[in-house]
Amino acid sequence: MSIPEQESWSKVQQRLRAEVGEDIYSSWFARMDLEAIEDGTVRLSVPTRFLKSWIQSHYAERVLACWQAEAPQVNRIELIVRSALRSSVAKPKAEPEIAVAGGAGGSDGNNRYGGSNHRPMIVGDQNGHEALGGSPLDPRLTFETFVLGRSNTLAHAAAKQVAAAKRSDAVMFNPLYIHAGVGLGKTHLLQAITWAGNAMGERKVLYLTAEKFMYGFVSALRTQTALAFKEALRGIGVLVIDDLQFLQGKSTQAEFCHTLNALIDAGRQVVIASDRPPSDLESLDDRVRSRLAGGLVVEMGPLGEELRFEILKARVTAARTHHPAFDVPGPVLSYIAKTVTHNGRDLEGALNRLLAHNKLTGHAVTLEMAEREVRDLIRPQEPKRVKIEDIQRVVARQYNVSRSDLLSSRRTANVVRPRQVAMYLAKTLTLRSLPEIGRRFGGRDHTTVLHAVRKIEGLVGNDMALAEEIEILKRQLQE
Ligand code: ADP
Ligand code: MG
Repeated sequence: MSIPEQESWSKVQQRLRAEVGEDIYSSWFARMDLEAIEDGTVRLSVPTRFLKSWIQSHYAERVLACWQAEAPQVNRIELIVRSALRSSVAKPKAEPEIAVAGGAGGSDGNNRYGGSNHRPMIVGDQNGHEALGGSPLDPRLTFETFVLGRSNTLAHAAAKQVAAAKRSDAVMFNPLYIHAGVGLGKTHLLQAITWAGNAMGERKVLYLTAEKFMYGFVSALRTQTALAFKEALRGIGVLVIDDLQFLQGKSTQAEFCHTLNALIDAGRQVVIASDRPPSDLESLDDRVRSRLAGGLVVEMGPLGEELRFEILKARVTAARTHHPAFDVPGPVLSYIAKTVTHNGRDLEGALNRLLAHNKLTGHAVTLEMAEREVRDLIRPQEPKRVKIEDIQRVVARQYNVSRSDLLSSRRTANVVRPRQVAMYLAKTLTLRSLPEIGRRFGGRDHTTVLHAVRKIEGLVGNDMALAEEIEILKRQLQE
């Protein structure tokens, strides 16, 4: 490795550390090494396959961006596993595979889990741990760091309740199903339940992403006997599954259904997060959907400006434990809270940039600097997520029919046209597929929906009055 390359690398490391924060950096990047730079490709190595896939799926773009900031000619990052490369010289390390930095932002529980375990969580006895290994947890995502606002009070209360329940308590709502758009705090709440539940020690809490459930959990179950499976499940008090919308494949879903039923019937708690309500999980079959909807379903709304401000404030406080010189004046926080409207992730991104800028240049954070640094995170008001029910309600009102008329099989002209309009709006204003829309309109076939969409598309080209009517409906729905 040449000296300039080494220098760029250490600058990239600094940049990365400033962007992701100390905890994440030491968990994931501390043992990443630079192997080579060739033709715009930077080859980096990490000691385990697990680290490789985690960094690949969560931080690949960030790492590349950090490199490009130092060396614009870099256009690709290649991650490799070190042991495969130089296993003969690799010496076993005594330290854990993933160290958890204790302290800042996390709960008191951090250190307890970070010490001797390979992952920052405990998933039970050795067998259970091996067989049912949970997804890694971010030590910053705890109840202590979760900021309350109007949009998340109910979800938070339910999560707290689940985390604090004792083994002997009757399960109050099962499953607890939390849904919200991207970056609104689902993962944060789910991991908070896991940290808090495991710290209490009453019931073992296992946190899995749907992906992990598919590739780890399910395959582990398949290779075991039914008895071993039951044994393993017996050890889990609370099963937490994140991003359920990613669960795919018929057999995986069958396993999921089986697991869900087995746990719920045994009085174990199940907690689920998804970006949509159970009724919109198109690929799951009706029985699973209704089982999911049979507990408590809570939606978390968008973060209001006040909540965004409080989250930012809390973040700065947490960052200051590692970077005492980092200060963000109130007006800058207000500015970010007002303009970076999208979600919690962008808020975090905005602050990380200010921190990186502040660390790398030594310049104090000012409003001017903030305006420059977060420019691309400012978005025009996101179009509202329109729900099919709202479309049906608004269209029914407009045409003076009832919502059940729209869903019914009646074919009189005064119902057929509004129904077609509603289906057309469902297709153009939501991301729902044709079969899903058909299902939501009284179990119609997707070809019926397609026909309606085409019909209305054809009509609006010639019929000005209809075109205008539809424009007005759209505006009402998107307001
Ligand atoms: P989701 O899983 O819903 O996409 P996350 O839980 O990953 O969202 O949240 C995105 C970011 O926003 C995280 O850094 C999270 O800590 C932060 N965040 C979201 N809601 C809150 C909240 N109420 N309090 C503190 N941080 C929050
Ligand atoms: Mg998430």
